[in-house]
Amino acid sequence: MENFCKFNISKRILLSLEKLGYKNPTEVQKEVIPLVLKNKDIIVQSETGSGKTASFGIPICEKIQIENNIIQSLVITPTRELCVQIKEDMSNIGRFKKVRCAAIFGKQTFSSQVRELKQRVHVVVGTPGRILDHMDRGTINLTEIKYLVIDEADEMMNMGFIEQVTNIINKLPEKRVTMLFSATMSEQVNLLCKKYMKEAITININSEKPITERIEDYYYIVEGKDKFDLLQKVIYKELPKSSIIFCNTRNNVDTLFNLLKDRGFSCISIHGGMLQEERLEAIRRFSRGEFTFLIATDIASRGIDIADITHVINYDMPFEKENYVHRIGRTGRAESNGKAISFLTPNQLRFLNEIEVYINRSVKLGEIPTIDEIEMGKKFFQGKSKNPIKLKREKNFELNKNISKIYINAGKKKKIRNIDIVGTISSIEGVNAEDIGIIDIQDNFSYVDILNGKASLVIEELKDRNMKGKKIRCEKAKK
Ligand code: AMP
Repeated sequence: MENFCKFNISKRILLSLEKLGYKNPTEVQKEVIPLVLKNKDIIVQSETGSGKTASFGIPICEKIQIENNIIQSLVITPTRELCVQIKEDMSNIGRFKKVRCAAIFGKQTFSSQVRELKQRVHVVVGTPGRILDHMDRGTINLTEIKYLVIDEADEMMNMGFIEQVTNIINKLPEKRVTMLFSATMSEQVNLLCKKYMKEAITININSEKPITERIEDYYYIVEGKDKFDLLQKVIYKELPKSSIIFCNTRNNVDTLFNLLKDRGFSCISIHGGMLQEERLEAIRRFSRGEFTFLIATDIASRGIDIADITHVINYDMPFEKENYVHRIGRTGRAESNGKAISFLTPNQLRFLNEIEVYINRSVKLGEIPTIDEIEMGKKFFQGKSKNPIKLKREKNFELNKNISKIYINAGKKKKIRNIDIVGTISSIEGVNAEDIGIIDIQDNFSYVDILNGKASLVIEELKDRNMKGKKIRCEKAKK
């Protein structure tokens, strides 16, 4: 098997990949990484879950000039959840090189983003509207952008972001590498490519294991009033380990959530009416395996990367056939297997035919659960609710194992700069600059990532030291 060494990337990036458990590059990574390292424009059509974030994240982190404290890469992406996910993935990849990434998206306070952008930031991941806001207000400096990523381009077009995206691109330096990623290539996406990319290389990735082998699609025909009854039976038959159940409206999500919860199923919900923090928290807790079911509207259908989802259930059928594909793509990720189960009312059969043509495979009629299956399932879930939950490890567990954030009660107002922090900490015996990660200097305090398990030593030693001639207080950062 080929591994990442063949790309000739630096040791610090390789170390992050090793800690993240990425042993061999995925298909899209094999194609994309060498081209971006050669500064080629690329258009990539690939399925979700193919490892595409790292395909651009790895070469971008490799190319970032770390000593240059300016934004060098911009990633435009349609949703806030994706923004956070990509920022985290890129921060993980660049952790040991100390690449600093910021996410900027709507519904978060503008001032906190302005503060973050004033720090030393190398990569910005943002939604189009918020990026433009910052550009208009002059709170983001994009004059040195060398790597632009347009992620989920088809979705951004569908969401009507075309004008905002082009407005952003028009204001970026022309000498740059542009990467466009899209699940489908619509006419609008093609036009965007023609207008803004130079001799771009097109890459079309077909998964090693085609989606037909990874995901089995089933449908049931059911009247609206009988859906919940059927859902319980299907759950008992299928015994999902981890499942997203899609509804079309916030109201339906809330109703179904309450029904399932009342019957003792372990579930959490997410929809656009919730606060951003609540949405992210729901995804985080579900990803960690705290709940078996995530009841969601389509905001969870696009791009969200949660490992090991065994079942996607369309409690309500989506309105658009494209959304069927996005929703079911939450299972069968990274070459694993999954089931997609759709509840159709009798008059939706024609729509199912359209979907079958669109996905180029047939969706099978599901078998009605038998009484035995239902009884066994009930027992299974009763037993499960009595057992303690085994939480999944977060994907950056190994990476973060020896990294701790420390808090220092001195910041910009005391004229503290990076160099002061690095100087003081590396003067501790047994600690050097390599042990210091990302530094975040705020007005009245600072945070510093300490690597290699040396945080306790640093905290202990800093008690007796001064910084810029003043006594400082230092402790382990709270969450
Ligand atoms: P993405 O398509 O970027 O959403 O990635 C899908 C999942 O695959 C994410 O959980 C990644 O962390 C994971 N992943 C990406 N690249 C690799 C790799 N080379 N080996 C193993 N897992 C990977």
